[in-house]
Amino acid sequence: MGKASEKSKPTFPLQYVKGIGPARAAALAEEGVHTISDLLLYTPRAYLDRRTVLTLRKTCMLLAGEEGVPDEVTVLVEIKRMNVPVGRSGRKPLVMRVADATGEANLVFFQGVRYFARAYQPGELLAISGPPEIYEGVLQWIHPEVEKMKREENELIHSGRIIPRYRETQKMKSVGLSSRSIRKLIETVFEKYVKEELKERLSDRLLEEHNLLPKGDAIRQLHFPDSEERLECARYRMKFEELFFFELGLAFRKETVKTEQPGIAFNVQGELARKLLDSLSFELTGAQKRALKEILDNMGSPQPMNRLLQGDVGSGKTIVSLLAMLVAIDNGYQCAMMAPTEILAEQHAQTLRRTLEGFPIKIEQLVGGLKKRVRENLLYDLRNNNVQILVGTHALFQDDVEFAKLGFVVIDEQHRFGVKERAALMEKGAMPDTLIMSATPIPRTLTMTLYGDLDVSVIDELPANRKPIKTAIRFESAVDSLWDFVRHEVREGRQVYIVYPLVEKSEKLELKSAVEHYEYHKETNFPDLRLGLLHGQMFWYEKEEIMQDFLEKKIDVLIATTVVEVGIDIPNASVMVIENAERFGLSQLHQLRGRVGRGKDQSYCMLITKDHFRYQMRRGMPQNEQRKERAASIRRLQAMVDTTDGFKISEIDLELRGPGDMVGTRQSGIPEFDHVNLITDGPIIAEAREAAFALATDDPKLNKPENRPIRDAYLGAMKRSLKYAEVG
Ligand code: ADP
Ligand code: MG
Repeated sequence: MGKASEKSKPTFPLQYVKGIGPARAAALAEEGVHTISDLLLYTPRAYLDRRTVLTLRKTCMLLAGEEGVPDEVTVLVEIKRMNVPVGRSGRKPLVMRVADATGEANLVFFQGVRYFARAYQPGELLAISGPPEIYEGVLQWIHPEVEKMKREENELIHSGRIIPRYRETQKMKSVGLSSRSIRKLIETVFEKYVKEELKERLSDRLLEEHNLLPKGDAIRQLHFPDSEERLECARYRMKFEELFFFELGLAFRKETVKTEQPGIAFNVQGELARKLLDSLSFELTGAQKRALKEILDNMGSPQPMNRLLQGDVGSGKTIVSLLAMLVAIDNGYQCAMMAPTEILAEQHAQTLRRTLEGFPIKIEQLVGGLKKRVRENLLYDLRNNNVQILVGTHALFQDDVEFAKLGFVVIDEQHRFGVKERAALMEKGAMPDTLIMSATPIPRTLTMTLYGDLDVSVIDELPANRKPIKTAIRFESAVDSLWDFVRHEVREGRQVYIVYPLVEKSEKLELKSAVEHYEYHKETNFPDLRLGLLHGQMFWYEKEEIMQDFLEKKIDVLIATTVVEVGIDIPNASVMVIENAERFGLSQLHQLRGRVGRGKDQSYCMLITKDHFRYQMRRGMPQNEQRKERAASIRRLQAMVDTTDGFKISEIDLELRGPGDMVGTRQSGIPEFDHVNLITDGPIIAEAREAAFALATDDPKLNKPENRPIRDAYLGAMKRSLKYAEVG
């Protein structure tokens, strides 16, 4: 899902701009700023103003109070004294004593002591930001962000001026690019280039109807705000624009699907589905019934269905999809079911055959490596409507695979398939109805935004007979008792996963690697157990062999990387151990946990992490960035312990990653935005979405002259994203 980015139009290279030069250009390039227009679009990450700046006294009051302290507090202070540690006394920090009109505080630096001692003098004014704390009765910041201020600026802020602050990387600092110098740089180029570099991308009509600032004005306000209100308008405009183009992409996709040939109107009162329902040993959950009804409503109409079925692993999506397939079969149509791996396809085929025993339905599997003869027979049967359900992987796309009457397609695990493959499969039927199953829930509030081109059904309820998986955090120093527990479970006849973050030892990250630990567990820890190793760099058939052995209980403990995230059901596996759990994204941890809890036994998910996480939050982290990261890690682990609800997990995940934060995005299937905060910008999302869908209906080819700016921007962004896709 690409966003309609306008960055990096090949214009005037930055290094020829006065005051930049090759070194600074290189530092900016690392941040994605290559051209003048990129620079103009390099928007501030925060602002200093009367509202955001606190006094030291107020900070102390917040720390003492119940309300809690914001993660980041900004204060304006003057340096009083510098306490520089003498000699090479190792760990002693540099302490800056600072003050404002209301009190005093310490700034503590463990690293870069000599640099700070040289670069800062008593009497200088600073804006500092970071999480404050009280240590031995004194207010302090450890490694805050520090920016030198001019006395005039300081006064300006108190008189209501708003000063933008830009992201400054280590590399930028090393070539003298501070927030302040970036401000200057933008000032020098702004007037000269703003007109020609930043074209309006919205139509006059949209600007008027939605009360939006024109592009140039908005960008001007972002860099040089006149007032809080004007700045707010500018931000609104940027968010609207970003969302508008995102939603426009979805709207066009939906329109394209709609306007092609009509689909099939099934008679949904079929015998077969009724018969299966009666034969089940359980009743469908309310959520399953609701999802099934939504699907059947689509199937009954001639409009081709394009529906996403979301639900946690084990929520019972498969049975719902099967009931829908039976309806199609009752109407004389064939079904295709696609899985991301051969072994998953195999498992689906087995489940279908088991569930449909005694039904007059032929289920076949199309896998690689079939004997020529067998394959030809299979394809013949398929062409002659002797096969009702064909299960397979990408192999289903091959040209010689022809259906007599393909009417319904189920795709398992949508995030493993691209749009292109989906389209290829659609071409094999008249216009089959398509159901995509996903075990990666995203927050309900976002489904509309993100899957605007699909209809969505949600199964948000687990069958009542499930035992919830017990999740716990274990610290590395106490891991021996965990291994005892593993041994105990194996003795009871159950199986265990142990997951590591990387395949091979990486010195840089000091992470435990699966390969290395496989050796260790085999030699030292579990010499008496049968161990297996599974990682992403094995050939696919090696992986499938290992999984097969695990399924057949030839392996007790499977040491693996995250490749097990999308895997087959091993109902007998009862323990999921995750090492270096702090390194995983929340959605990923949840997916991994879903590998257990498939059978009748109580299952466990054990998250191993470093001991220092236990008391990390209180004291002595050297750097802010790291500290924030660790705080987020701890909240992720805690969330895993607190809930097994995939939708809640995805909400917390989203909250933990603010906008512009890349960690874990790909796994959770949520796109990145530059300006939009998906949590807080709900109303703008709805407004932009409505505008985009209305436009796509009103002017589907963007031919109207008034929509010219939108057309240019949209096509330009498409072209660029295609170009990137080819390069990447
Ligand atoms: P998903 O595809 O969502 O991961 P499955 O369809 O594989 O979930 O269901 C997991 C297991 O739960 C299967 O063995 C299935 O037969 C069973 N199941 C499905 N629905 C129910 C229900 N309503 N009550 C009890 N068991 C159910
Ligand atoms: Mg499943």
